[in-house]
Amino acid sequence: MKLRILGINNMSSRDTIWPAYLIDHDLALDAGSLCRSLTFDEQAALRAVVVSHRHLDHTLDLVPFGLNRVASGWPPVDVYGIRDAVDYLRGALIGPLVPKALGAPGEEASLRLNAVDYHQETSILGRRVTAIPVPHAVPAAGIHVESGGVKLFYTGDAGQGLSRAWTRVSPDALLTECSHGNLNRAHVAKAGHQTPELLKETLSDFKALRGYLPKVIVTHINPQWEQAVRKELVEVSREIDHEILIAEPGMTLELTARP
Ligand SMILES: [Zn+2]
Ligand SMILES: [Zn+2]
Repeated sequence: MKLRILGINNMSSRDTIWPAYLIDHDLALDAGSLCRSLTFDEQAALRAVVVSHRHLDHTLDLVPFGLNRVASGWPPVDVYGIRDAVDYLRGALIGPLVPKALGAPGEEASLRLNAVDYHQETSILGRRVTAIPVPHAVPAAGIHVESGGVKLFYTGDAGQGLSRAWTRVSPDALLTECSHGNLNRAHVAKAGHQTPELLKETLSDFKALRGYLPKVIVTHINPQWEQAVRKELVEVSREIDHEILIAEPGMTLELTARP
């Protein structure tokens, strides 16, 4: 499974890019930077997008992406999410802003919205995809993708209590958020995010339950806390004796099954 990192920050600027990730060339996880990060050819090749939750840093580029598809005649794209996210896309984002992307009655939609239930495995372009509930400020899902015998779990945005997902998933690779530094723990408790300290607890819970640690890739970093997060993750990595890779836009990883 090829994982390409498009954006890794939760604030948008010239130098920081909202979250989106590509599995191989045709499936995207989240849509914060689909257009900004992909050429037209790459956008045209996309066939499905799975969003973790409704927040704009994970969904906003579905607006220009939908406009591009309406304007170009590229093949339609299936967009999947939990009910809360799909209702938001239909009622507040794509519906009002790019109604043509959803298709007039009798017309084919450029973006086809599909609601999935938690724990319901869906076959998407030959991959087995499952939404797993994770704790966040709004209803949110971690996305489990199994493809060619490789299992990836992308947490989306998830705060304290993420460890409850470990009874459900045992991935080869974990793409997890770590938004703020340890000093911001009070804020993240309210907003539902990870700090390096929380991530250490979460990974320790994983190891206690599963007996191993997956490949860990960290993303969704608040730019104002990035220095602290990077420094504190070096400490965590040393303490748990396990590599923690910090994602970078443009990075492509070839994920493999654990031996
Ligand atoms: Zn969020
Ligand atoms: Zn976010």
